[in-house]
Amino acid sequence: KLSSHTYDNNALNRRRDKNAARGYQRENATLLMLVRNMELEGALDSMKSLEDSFNRMYHYDWTFMNDVPFSPEFIEATTAMASGRTQYALIPSEDWDRPQWINETRFEEALNTMEEDGVLYGNSKSYRNMCRFNSGYFFRQKILDDYDYYFRVEPDVRYFCDFPYDPFRIMREQQKIYGFVISLYEYENTIESLWDAVSEYIEKDGGHDIDMNSNSYNFLTDKSKIGMYEPVTGSHSDYNLCHFWSNFEIGDLNFFRSEKYIKFFEHLDAKGGFYYERWGDAPVHSIAVALLLNKDEIIHFDGIAYEHQPFNTCPISTTLRMDQRCRCDIADEHNIGITPHSCLMRWWKNGSGKSFLREDN
Ligand code: GDP
Ligand code: MN
Repeated sequence: KLSSHTYDNNALNRRRDKNAARGYQRENATLLMLVRNMELEGALDSMKSLEDSFNRMYHYDWTFMNDVPFSPEFIEATTAMASGRTQYALIPSEDWDRPQWINETRFEEALNTMEEDGVLYGNSKSYRNMCRFNSGYFFRQKILDDYDYYFRVEPDVRYFCDFPYDPFRIMREQQKIYGFVISLYEYENTIESLWDAVSEYIEKDGGHDIDMNSNSYNFLTDKSKIGMYEPVTGSHSDYNLCHFWSNFEIGDLNFFRSEKYIKFFEHLDAKGGFYYERWGDAPVHSIAVALLLNKDEIIHFDGIAYEHQPFNTCPISTTLRMDQRCRCDIADEHNIGITPHSCLMRWWKNGSGKSFLREDN
């Protein structure tokens, strides 16, 4: 017996025709990957997956960034894989390397302590450069100057379903600034003093850039227990550790380039926490957009199915999974969905969960 929801083959064909139609006006946007030469295979896997599920219809540009020059092999293979133009940028050392003012002794001590404590990437210097770059410098790279939107892609990720829409178009038409698919809890031992720095900034700002009536402060600090974690009961922090998983993000570059974001970043950067601790770009971006944006400017792309180890998401609706030709299993143990690891329920509780309708519905 077929389910009550009838599968509409014609609608699907109409949409395919529409998307494939010549003359589609692309948004001013690029797919963006920060990546190392040795990750070529994983980069190609991600590209193939995103091309097959989305970009082969649209041919958006691909932009690659690296702190060392890309190898000819890397450039050749990724260009062959792309359906749009490709371009490659070398990140200047002053945007990547550890700043001079970081105290070497304190830094080395932090690396040792965090390694002993078993902190993920606790003793990695390059990982810290990467997190600081992704927090404060990726959007300042010249190669991105002419774009409005970016879609971050990492090596070894997968998109399980055909995209039901052009997410860049949704961003512009619905005036969204930041889009995510997965939200979860950060490891507290990587950001011990981050919330202190944020609290100080909120006070310093005094309501100038941060509007508590329209932002998503409640998403970051909801004190009631939802899911598996009690609120953080450390010496100071009301932060519940929720963040958007930034290995997938679609964002408006003009926001990151704005004075209000740069001021926020510079305040955090001056604390040295990217090095003395191991602050990730995910909590930094997340806290910034949650504080500085109206909650309606953040979008949960619930039509996009995605995997970055160890988590994935997959649409719950069977019709949707067929319609979008998904290759994922909602019962998969790594499907974060609405499991206790997910912060999605807090996001809905924040009042920003109203699922938007698909373009053609
Ligand atoms: P994880 O997702 O937190 O485990 O970290 P990843 O190893 O996936 O790194 C995040 C992103 O930064 C990926 O796109 C990596 O390719 C990239 N990345 C990490 N470290 C470096 C680095 O030292 N140089 C370059 N060019 N890219 C890096
Ligand atoms: Mn990754």
